[in-house]
Amino acid sequence: METWRKAIADSITTPEELAELLDIDPEPLAPLVRRYPLRITRRYLGLIGKPGDAIWRQCVPDPCELDDDQLSDPLDEERLSPVPGVIHRYPDRVVWLVSNECAVYCRFCMRKRRVGCPLAGSNGRSGDDAVRYIAATPAIRDVILSGGDPLLLDDERLEAILARLRAIPHVEMIRIGTRTPVTLPERITARLCRMLKRYHPLYVNTHFNHPREITPEATKACARLADTGIPLGNQTVLLAGVNDEPAIMTLLMQRLLAIRVRPYYIHQMDLVRGTGHFRTKVTTGLDIIGALRGHTSGMATPYFVIDAAGGKGKIPLLPDAVERRGDTWLLRNYRGEIVEYQDR
Ligand SMILES: *Cc1c(COP(=O)(O)O)cnc(C)c1O
Ligand code: SF4
Repeated sequence: METWRKAIADSITTPEELAELLDIDPEPLAPLVRRYPLRITRRYLGLIGKPGDAIWRQCVPDPCELDDDQLSDPLDEERLSPVPGVIHRYPDRVVWLVSNECAVYCRFCMRKRRVGCPLAGSNGRSGDDAVRYIAATPAIRDVILSGGDPLLLDDERLEAILARLRAIPHVEMIRIGTRTPVTLPERITARLCRMLKRYHPLYVNTHFNHPREITPEATKACARLADTGIPLGNQTVLLAGVNDEPAIMTLLMQRLLAIRVRPYYIHQMDLVRGTGHFRTKVTTGLDIIGALRGHTSGMATPYFVIDAAGGKGKIPLLPDAVERRGDTWLLRNYRGEIVEYQDR
């Protein structure tokens, strides 16, 4: 068995195991993990410093996940799905959910409704439907493999997907969204990278939420991908009690650049059932962008986006930076000073 498979097999999946390791009461967690599954790799669990810290909050189930009356799919992903597993919301790109499995089930996951569940049509038929849809839709030039985590598929299954997509002439690029560099860095093997290299242009977006997730192992995993010639981006979710402070977020963005990962998005939490205790106010995100923009490398400043309900798309937000008086633009710089720009 490959090392990463062993790490998955050895991960914590029951309240009893978790209770033993963390000295908590397993009782209230039992109904919870029947609804939303539990999995934590030993490596990720090892990053916990103390009860309730940033790592703990992301992976240890919290009973308040059950008292939340939001929708399970506020972004209408199921409605925007022409064939099972494909979300077609924007004209020229689709998300293809190729796996429902993850190394760690994040408690704040926007796809909480499906992660850890059996993949519908996992006998391969849904894959055929997805490929057929993409092949029959010439407008699609960008395919984003997501899930779950695509890198929980083994190399052969992943390669079969990449090869079928590459055979479609109008698919110009493929992206993979994965949290394995953080939660299962041993997944980024030399063998995987040799395989991926054959399917350029390939982009990988990782998912770091806290500077403490940037471990030596995560650094090595990202270096391997970058050395394979894969541009790396990062999507962070803004999470109460985890990274909702400008100083933490600034450090995270700077450290990501230091490991050759370019910050891409900071996501406002979606209004997904079971995740309300992570939600911050919009001003929290704006304050963070305000603290980043101009104060540190422009490359360290991602877009802060709200994914609009009903599948209306991601909308970037900036702190009040522009005001218009006819041909005069009043622009606010990073120190808050107003600068005039005259259109002519
Ligand atoms: C986020 C997302 C994309 C990709 O958006 P980009 O802004 O191009 O990264 C595509 N489709 C869906 C459904 C998405 O949620
Ligand atoms: S890795 Fe991504 S898809 Fe998986 S549980 Fe975490 S946020 Fe959800």
